[in-house]
Amino acid sequence: MTTKTISHWVDGKSFVGTSTKTAPVTNPATGEVTAQVALASVEDTRAAIDAAAAAFPAWRDTSLAKRVQILFKFRELLNERKPELAKIITSEHGKVLDDALGEVTRGQEVVEFACGIPHLLKGGMTENASTKVDVFSIRQPIGPVAAISPFNFPAMVPMWFFPIAIATGNTVVLKPSEKDPSAAIWMAELWAEAGLPAGVFNVLQGDKTSVDELLTNSGIKAISFVGSTPIAQYVYNTGTAHGKRVQALGGAKNHMVVLPDADLDLAADAAVNAGFGSAGERCMAISALVAVGGVGDELVAKINERAKTIKTGDGTKGCDMGPLVTKQHRDKVASYVDAGEADGATIALDGRQVQPDGGENGFWLGPTVIDNVTPDMSVYTDEIFGPVLSVLRVESYDDALELINSNPYGNGTAIFTNDGGAARRFQNEVEVGMVGINVPIPVPMAYYSFGGWKSSLFGDTHAHGAEGIHFFTRGKVITERWLDPSHGGLNLGFPQSHH
Ligand code: NAD
Repeated sequence: MTTKTISHWVDGKSFVGTSTKTAPVTNPATGEVTAQVALASVEDTRAAIDAAAAAFPAWRDTSLAKRVQILFKFRELLNERKPELAKIITSEHGKVLDDALGEVTRGQEVVEFACGIPHLLKGGMTENASTKVDVFSIRQPIGPVAAISPFNFPAMVPMWFFPIAIATGNTVVLKPSEKDPSAAIWMAELWAEAGLPAGVFNVLQGDKTSVDELLTNSGIKAISFVGSTPIAQYVYNTGTAHGKRVQALGGAKNHMVVLPDADLDLAADAAVNAGFGSAGERCMAISALVAVGGVGDELVAKINERAKTIKTGDGTKGCDMGPLVTKQHRDKVASYVDAGEADGATIALDGRQVQPDGGENGFWLGPTVIDNVTPDMSVYTDEIFGPVLSVLRVESYDDALELINSNPYGNGTAIFTNDGGAARRFQNEVEVGMVGINVPIPVPMAYYSFGGWKSSLFGDTHAHGAEGIHFFTRGKVITERWLDPSHGGLNLGFPQSHH
């Protein structure tokens, strides 16, 4: 029996709340329930929103110099202690330690980007737009904002948003996934240590009840959501209907095209890394490999050769690939492999038979390669979110492009080729937000923006980079004249600048 309960962080301290509802948190490598996470009631959610609202006026007026000092301190502490955070991620998510550390480092890059906020927030100024009339623009914070994040990146995805929201003068309520809730609390404690005033960063543990309150409560001015497509669509529709600014990033089905002239060893390495890294539980994972013009047999052979060497097991034991996040998710992913087989695809490598280096009750599924997949099969149409790589064979570049552009998702994609002209065509013609050329997981750097197209993102603003700054601020333009004796007296005409 476990008694540990993971609760909320509100107004600079741990907050138990009134709800008695909880959900189990498991270690996916052992199957053991390690804690219960509190699931916030509407009342608890309001307490977090109130704390963020109360902290907002003072934080928005805190100087950029002071904000930057706190951001730098947070970055230093994070950099120093990230192995602790990686361990927490591995214990609740299951991904191997190296990968967890990589996730934290990518999140840290957004913190580093946000440290440059004085430069990023500079407005424009025009002197003498009309005689002795000056015009200037500024960007101001929008108020308390909420971030709602998925299980697969419990540290990085929240860090796509909160460093920038905080740097631009907003206060934040983060609602992490109930499957791996501890990383958010660890980060909240780090903020407190870095000197962030109480109430600027709050963590609310919860499920749909708390999300619905965040979406409808007038105290929250903007929502950054990341998760599956149906929930992203719901969050976008509900949040915008309640007058909020919303960016809602959804699911994915990422294609990797291999042209006949590609270096097949490079392509095979890339397909294995991008297909099975983090057990395929990445929104940028490659799940559909598109072999063009007869390279299929050789490519699948090379992929199998490599995928067979992957050591699946407990993420703390130096394995290459960890378990899936829950038993339910593991079984769902395995059921797609069954469906692919029943639909007539070839199971070229079968992860259902894996012998893991981990607990007998862990949520294991080894690397799986399904060949001869066609676009009507559920292994292709659905986002599986597991270590399952489907291989589709097409005749030409045009067929590959048509396949990708008819897919409802448009998060990431990659092309492998040695032909610069073909790559140039692909980057121009493909209807996907993030494109890799001989790079299988083209996650943009913090100073660019992350976001997909079509059903992979609802809203019009991508995460971090310039678009992140824009999302968390409102523009204001000031037109200014200091009166002197030559002012024009009464004039009811529309202001124009012809003098
Ligand atoms: P999910 O949609 O189940 O959950 C995401 C968040 O929404 C969680 O905080 C969860 O508590 C909340 N939620 C779940 N059901 C809800 C409901 N009915 N009403 C209100 N809130 C609800 O997603 P997940 O399983 O945690 O994460 C995996 C998904 O996230 C995949 O589809 C993956 O592609 C996607 N993802 C996308 C990106 C991206 O950048 N586009 C990044 C990471 C993950």
